[in-house]
Amino acid sequence: MDKTLMNADPHAEIREEVRKLCSRFPGEYWRELDARRGYPTEFVQALTEAGYLGALIPEEYGGAGLGLSAAAAILEEVQAQGCNGAACHAQMYIMGTILRHGSKEQKDKYLPGIASGELRLQAFGVTEPTSGTDTTALRTTARREGDKWIVNGQKIWTSRAEHSDLMLLLARTTPRDQVKKKTEGLSTFIVDMRTVLGKGLTIRPIRTMMNHNSCEVFFDNMEVPAENLVGQEGKGFRYILDGMNAERLLIASECIGDAKWFIEKAVNYAKERVLFGRPIGQNQGVQFPIAKSYSQMRAAEAIVHKGLEKFEAGLPCGEEANMGKMLAAEASWAAGEACVQTHGGFGFAEEYDVERKFRETRLYQVAPISTNLILSYLGEHVLGMPRSY
Ligand SMILES: Cc1cc2nc3c(=O)[nH]c(=O)nc-3n(C[C@H](O)[C@H](O)[C@H](O)COP(=O)(O)OP(=O)(O)OC[C@H]3O[C@@H](n4cnc5c(N)ncnc54)[C@H](O)[C@@H]3O)c2cc1C
Repeated sequence: MDKTLMNADPHAEIREEVRKLCSRFPGEYWRELDARRGYPTEFVQALTEAGYLGALIPEEYGGAGLGLSAAAAILEEVQAQGCNGAACHAQMYIMGTILRHGSKEQKDKYLPGIASGELRLQAFGVTEPTSGTDTTALRTTARREGDKWIVNGQKIWTSRAEHSDLMLLLARTTPRDQVKKKTEGLSTFIVDMRTVLGKGLTIRPIRTMMNHNSCEVFFDNMEVPAENLVGQEGKGFRYILDGMNAERLLIASECIGDAKWFIEKAVNYAKERVLFGRPIGQNQGVQFPIAKSYSQMRAAEAIVHKGLEKFEAGLPCGEEANMGKMLAAEASWAAGEACVQTHGGFGFAEEYDVERKFRETRLYQVAPISTNLILSYLGEHVLGMPRSY
């Protein structure tokens, strides 16, 4: 890609190390897991041992204490090497809620284990089947009873729930008709799933078009100790919102990595495949969609870098985080489309990995936030138009 910029990249060394690690997990590894919807335990273990999943945890809690741009470089590189960070990316950022809003006891109790990988906090229970994007309409409730909270309800799309020890849960603690603003009365909890699985907690995997280990989760009088409430009761929605810019910038970086993988794969194939006596990449009809997706990727990358810069400087970065996520997800899709088309029939053959990555990257126009909601954010908060919902 851009060699001048790569030389100036402050994370060039991390990227090189991530590349080496990823080379131990080639296409065959992912294909085999994809076929049986398996979890990449060895890959997650390798990332954990290298300290990458604890990148954002401060050193005093045993993490690497790196900035968001380093975490973004790690995830981008994972995707650019054809691997899939979706299996564990949330281990990097969900803990941010505990770090920013948790008590000293909670930080001391959980963060060192999350940093070492001994504890997995990579399940995030927000979305519900009936409320979807309309988060404040969620129906899961938590009722205080003595030194416990009693949780009832259901979540959907709780990714990695079967491969996580802890879940960060958003539940309503004051009914919606008893709060002034619908964003109030929601609270955030740390659920130790090991203690309640089969005792109030049921997890059911959902088979999806790509290997994502996502689940439905049911709570039936599930007990959560009172001390597992994060921060103040009723303020949970704000705590969740607080972590969203970081999440968006990280997911956007993964999309940029995907786009780079597709572009490299398409370019190589376009140069090698000879038809009518010349490489297919000599035809502008083949070249142009690849070149176009490259320019889309570079534009998205610039916005994401701007967002990371602002985030690390402590400046508001909602605009860049949202635009970056949307543009990067669109760029990776455009690059995927160009890559499939360049490969002709082989784009559909599993052994080329193109179809797998194509399925995997489609998600990011929907989750963790769909494109329409990003456009609504820009329309309302950046451009000052009336709120649409
Ligand atoms: C594989 C996968 C993994 C996921 N992992 C997690 C997870 O770990 N934890 C978690 O909590 N959630 C997770 N999600 C949920 C994800 O965040 C939601 O799917 C996403 O936010 C969209 O919500 P929804 O599916 O309910 O769609 P809906 O909210 O039903 O929306 C459907 C469509 O309508 C559009 N729409 C809705 N309202 C408006 C409006 N006002 N204006 C314009 N358009 C609108 C949306 O953009 C969307 O295109 C995951 C989802 C998937 C598919």
